[in-house]
Amino acid sequence: MKTKKLFKDNPYLVKTEAQITEVINSEGKTAVTFDQTVFFPEGGGQPWDLGTVTLRGPEAKVYNILKVIESDGDILHVLDTDDDIPLGTECLLEIDWERRFDNMQRHTGEHIFTGVFDRDFGGTNRGFHMGDDYMTIDISLEDRAKVDKLTWDMVLEAELKSNEIIYQDLPMIVRHFNSFEEASKEPMRKPLSVEEDITLVGFGSTDYDWACVACCGTHLKSTAQVGLIKAFKLESNKGMYRIYFEAGRRAFIRYQQEMETLHTLGRKLSAGTEDILSKYDAQAEKNHEKSFQFSQLKKEVISRECSRICDNLAVGMYDGIIPCERYNILSLDDLTQLGRALSPSVKKVFFLVHEPSCTALLVSDGKINCGRLVKENAGIYNGKGGGNDILARAIFTKTEYVDTFMDLIEKHLR
Ligand SMILES: [Zn+2]
Repeated sequence: MKTKKLFKDNPYLVKTEAQITEVINSEGKTAVTFDQTVFFPEGGGQPWDLGTVTLRGPEAKVYNILKVIESDGDILHVLDTDDDIPLGTECLLEIDWERRFDNMQRHTGEHIFTGVFDRDFGGTNRGFHMGDDYMTIDISLEDRAKVDKLTWDMVLEAELKSNEIIYQDLPMIVRHFNSFEEASKEPMRKPLSVEEDITLVGFGSTDYDWACVACCGTHLKSTAQVGLIKAFKLESNKGMYRIYFEAGRRAFIRYQQEMETLHTLGRKLSAGTEDILSKYDAQAEKNHEKSFQFSQLKKEVISRECSRICDNLAVGMYDGIIPCERYNILSLDDLTQLGRALSPSVKKVFFLVHEPSCTALLVSDGKINCGRLVKENAGIYNGKGGGNDILARAIFTKTEYVDTFMDLIEKHLR
């Protein structure tokens, strides 16, 4: 005897009494079938139900459901145990209703959203994914398409139309058919791909081909219970359009979280949601100006430093000492620019020290190979680095090493 699927006629049934008809071992776990069940297996893009099985009798053991699988019309319930449970045991089956209702809201929401793309744009849904963080549909524009592309504005339009279907509180119409011939006469948006045990699901009217499709999932009583449909993103995917969206309580929670982010951002910018974009643009413009001024100032500082060092070199101010200047505020890249500008005026080697990173920048006019000096000597003080003829970096772990390294090079070149 096949398992009676109580969820087919009443997806709102949360619990039932049932009798075990078969017990098998599934990958080390006990799996059972019942004469009837409220547990929906995976299907139509909808995940399986979770919940509990309570054994009736003196022991009254409770097991959790790990997975629900449909196999040859029977429904296998995998339990979180390897106990040997006797055939014929009477049990209470109870689904996790919160999870099921969430699944029904999302799944029914997908029916509505897909239906609207079909009706308004002639788009065909070629893929549905119900993930932990979002749902996606892949809309394909084929022969019967009414548009040549899908834009974000069109997605927003479809979202609004879908929410209007929710406001209209249309009944979900679920019809079971025993024969393919009988079912295939009905208006529907996709040709039938199942031969038997066919369920057609639509909303509003059985005359709406765009709203009707064969589906084995569980659905809400009316479109109003979906509550909300919200799209988040549109992207191209294998010649189709992938739309990320949410439905039901999840859509509302996501809305709430994103509004919170917007309000927090508004507080930081001293703006309300209505002027947050203009305030942000004004701030970005200011930042751009400041960053331009900053780079001009740095150019000026580098140019003045170059002149000052060249003047000092010309009057012999570094004679008899290690020719070096130390910097804290200028970055290594700034010092590299300064080094390049300085290079033609340098005799032997000049050092630019970047103190925060314990780095010595060696500058020469090219007659002495700075890169080779670093390569051959930095390692003595655990330093590393390299460069070319006129410019090279020697990076150390301590400031003292920078000084001893410069001292060594200076003596070496004397
Ligand atoms: Zn469905």
